[in-house]
Amino acid sequence: MGNKEAKKMIICATCGAEFDASLVRCPYCGGGYAPAEEDEYMDRLDDNRKELDSHKADGDKSLKKQLSKSIGLVILIIAAIILLVAGSFCLARRSESHKAEQQKQEFLSNQGIVTD
Ligand SMILES: [Zn+2]
Repeated sequence: MGNKEAKKMIICATCGAEFDASLVRCPYCGGGYAPAEEDEYMDRLDDNRKELDSHKADGDKSLKKQLSKSIGLVILIIAAIILLVAGSFCLARRSESHKAEQQKQEFLSNQGIVTD
């Protein structure tokens, strides 16, 4: 009992988490601890890497955004085309049947048969 409290704890220079000094690396971020000078260097290195990573992530994000945007556009266009085709098909059928009805009426009136 109380053994845990006796352990020397150190603060991670990279992420600020407290962890057992007997550990070589921070269990939270995987960063090692070292003299201040090296820490500063590592910090700078880490900053550079983070900046690179963020740029990469930004690129990935915008690419995904663009991709999902274009996919949405394609779906929209396809839906519009389907609607257009279905609509014109319905219209064509309706006007066709309408035309046939007209022709029938004309034929019947020509024959002298009066229809309602
Ligand atoms: Zn850490």
